[in-house]
Amino acid sequence: MAHATLKAASGGGIRGEALVQPIRIGIVGVGKIARDAHVPSISANPAFVLAATASPHGELPGVVSFASLESMLDGVPELAAVALCTPPQVRYEAARLALERGKHVLLEKPPCPSVAGLEHLSALAQTTGRTLYQTWHSQEAPAVARAARELSGRTLKRVRVTWQEDVREWHPGQRWLWEAGGFGVFDAGINALSILTRIIPEPLLARSARLHVPENCATPIAAELTLATASGVPIEARFDFRHPGTPRWEIEISTNRGPLTLADGGATLRLAGARAATPQVFLGGEYAAIYRRFCELIARGESEVDARPLRCVADLYLLATHVTVEAFAG
Ligand code: NAP
Repeated sequence: MAHATLKAASGGGIRGEALVQPIRIGIVGVGKIARDAHVPSISANPAFVLAATASPHGELPGVVSFASLESMLDGVPELAAVALCTPPQVRYEAARLALERGKHVLLEKPPCPSVAGLEHLSALAQTTGRTLYQTWHSQEAPAVARAARELSGRTLKRVRVTWQEDVREWHPGQRWLWEAGGFGVFDAGINALSILTRIIPEPLLARSARLHVPENCATPIAAELTLATASGVPIEARFDFRHPGTPRWEIEISTNRGPLTLADGGATLRLAGARAATPQVFLGGEYAAIYRRFCELIARGESEVDARPLRCVADLYLLATHVTVEAFAG
């Protein structure tokens, strides 16, 4: 399954819903990203109204809350959509249940820890005629679309990805990261891969992976990776969660017309060293774009899924060698 925008199956009069009423949406998983980005983006978009939340412990003031998705679906049957902001381990089951109960589904990244699971969700959205929008927020970062346009007329020579941050600052207390299916450093690194799949219209082939796994964790804290495009452009990537201070989220691409660098997680573009003008919107802007897109997809009766970053991580795991490193004390 490549990057695909799919028409939902016809039937039941639900294709291309006329959006005269705001879409009643429920947030599942009231944690950091729900509070930082989803709640403000829903509040700022008149096409949506936040009607409920489902989370084992988290609640939002003034919003009816439930401890589980099942109880939210039973308690607020008029919900039209859900935004799944849980850890990835429970997202396949949650998305499946929501689609089967007739809801449109917005999936946080990484979508789920199974390529076949994502493919099944995509097929289920088709058969239920509901929208599945599998998001990659970094693809909406301000300089990414411009970078894709710049690259379309160039020949690529080499790509180097550096994705380093302090996990204690950016993922405080998130034990799920270190459990099987939690992605570890790939939770952040997959953002870089999602930018690559957006700006390089070729298959990305995994070549090697060396994963640094703390002795008390199931997932890596750092990774050294090599990949190549189908036409042979080499890609080197280093992901590291042990980087103190200012994060470095950077993609440097050497081309026949000089270097192109995407920095700050896709917010900044440099062409041959000079900063290029791009709209200055950061995480809030990425999620505002995501909710505009979700509304458009629902109105058109379409789904959007880009499985390539997830497949790339799965392929890297298949090739990986593992190095045990010191225990992580979160
Ligand atoms: P988080 O702070 O740990 O929040 C996840 C929340 O999910 C937890 O607070 C927990 O709620 C809830 N939860 C756990 N199991 C659940 C279940 N079965 N049903 C319903 N809710 C459940 O993690 P996060 O940082 O928000 O990240 C969540 C996802 O968003 C990750 O996949 C991450 O990659 C992605 N994301 C995060 C960021 C970021 O900056 N943090 C940015 C973009 C994307 P309770 O507290 O109620 O137990």
